[in-house]
Amino acid sequence: MTSTTVMPGGRDADATAIDRLPGVVFQLHRSHDGRLHFPFLAGGGVRLIGIAPERLAEDARPALDRLVEEDYPRLMAALERSMRWKTPVSTRFRLPLKGRGVRWIALRAQPTPADDGVLWHGMLMDISEQVAEEARLRRLSDTDDLTGVANRRRLMARLEEAVSLSNRHATPLSLMILDIDHFKGINDTHGHLQGDEVLREVARLCQAMLREEDLVARMGGEEFALLLPLTPKRRALTLAQRLCGAIAGHDFGVERPITVSIGIAEHRIGEGARQLIARADHRLYAAKDDGRNRALADA
Ligand code: GH3
Ligand code: MG
Ligand code: MG
Repeated sequence: MTSTTVMPGGRDADATAIDRLPGVVFQLHRSHDGRLHFPFLAGGGVRLIGIAPERLAEDARPALDRLVEEDYPRLMAALERSMRWKTPVSTRFRLPLKGRGVRWIALRAQPTPADDGVLWHGMLMDISEQVAEEARLRRLSDTDDLTGVANRRRLMARLEEAVSLSNRHATPLSLMILDIDHFKGINDTHGHLQGDEVLREVARLCQAMLREEDLVARMGGEEFALLLPLTPKRRALTLAQRLCGAIAGHDFGVERPITVSIGIAEHRIGEGARQLIARADHRLYAAKDDGRNRALADA
């Protein structure tokens, strides 16, 4: 059974209601030769596209040309799949809108076979606020509260990626694990808040010494990991020694110098992320045994 809502005032009232929709309803036609056009476009969002609907009824390209470059092939692939498998499209892309800058737009559409190709019926909605909120939540769930560096979760995700790249292309990859020496003593003497301040400062010093593509993460407690893609062990060791020196020479505002011990391992082809961490950890404990305030790399 189908139901229809009858609007007082008939079709004119329907048209006004559609013009007030916060978004766009459309028909998109794709002919067998791949040409796209919008036979129907309506809704409050149409004027924000800034292209006359009559022009888009002829040819969709002026709108598609506006898409942010890397989103264009994604949208085309989504339409291609929808056409081939006769399944609904659900995707998002970025589009500059009149007076609003670049916005994230969600597209949902249902394909039906049509003369000379496919006809989609669908909707466009501005979802920029949701996308920003998703990004904010993702940042929160990936970040260590206290220090603002990556947390263990993000470290593990990046490490898995880096290890798989290194396995495929045999590119060097080093991992450092850094632990603050006698940190318990700092808390005991200066209090937990001062201890927190030291953790933040150590994170900042690590970050300052790294490149854009490197990652600093807090593993937990007073232990940090530094992930160094495209870095062989020898270079990681030099860097770690400089970091030990920089931290030992830094004024943390406590009476004695603060030092760190660092264990380093370079990824071996075929090895997984956890094995790499375990080897770096091993070196860290060797560095502690060896007298602390030093860096040791795996043989
Ligand atoms: P070692 O040189 O062998 O590493 O000794 P250590 O004292 O640094 O190591 P231990 O593991 O005995 O102590 C770590 C301390 O770190 C104990 C814990 O109270 C403290 N700690 C862990 N997380 C935090 C934190 O978030 N803030 C502060 N202030 N202290 C923390
Ligand atoms: Mg410690
Ligand atoms: Mg520790």
